[in-house]
Amino acid sequence: MARVTGPVCRMCRREGAKLFLKGVRCDTPKCAFERRESAPGMNVFRRGKLTDYGIHLREKQKVKRYYGVLERQFRKYFDAAERAKGNTGEVLMSLLERRLDNVVCRLGFGQSRAQARMMVNHGHITVNGRCVDVASCLTRPGDVIGVKDRPKSLQWVQASLEESAREVPEFLSLIQGPQPEGHVLRLPEAEDVSIPVQTQLIVELCSK
Ligand code: SF4
Repeated sequence: MARVTGPVCRMCRREGAKLFLKGVRCDTPKCAFERRESAPGMNVFRRGKLTDYGIHLREKQKVKRYYGVLERQFRKYFDAAERAKGNTGEVLMSLLERRLDNVVCRLGFGQSRAQARMMVNHGHITVNGRCVDVASCLTRPGDVIGVKDRPKSLQWVQASLEESAREVPEFLSLIQGPQPEGHVLRLPEAEDVSIPVQTQLIVELCSK
């Protein structure tokens, strides 16, 4: 499984938006984007205006970086969205929101998508009572996302729930307690996406 291992705050500065890649730190004054919004690199102020292609590309890169998916996987989601009925952009965002690592993060079990992905890969998360270690697994309405009944897993999730205190989106519900549990109530819709995205730009770029 390929993943980005470079400095992540640069990604926020490159995309000109907070992508919340570092969990709790993103909500503190230590956030690099709050301190310096300019794009990374030298001579940044001498760069010209973005071209039309550049505007489209930045929108796609923003979404890929936010959800932690690379080009090939993103293309698969786009192809699936194009084949599906309905608005391609909305279906694409719905598919990305349904990823298990995203759902774990949005429930607050992990502080960031990267941490949520690691928890899934290391077998701390269950779906409908069975351990699932594939972060890209798509959740469905009715799925129950749980934590493996192991002291280490539970401790980790409890600490994350306390620290992040995140608002759970409407397509999920969270039951707190000694054995926290999340329920997928319905498919995610446009208003459940937590990052402002102009999906039309992505569809225009990927359809070429
Ligand atoms: Fe982005 Fe978080 Fe780094 Fe701020 S702290 S720049 S939101 S990753």
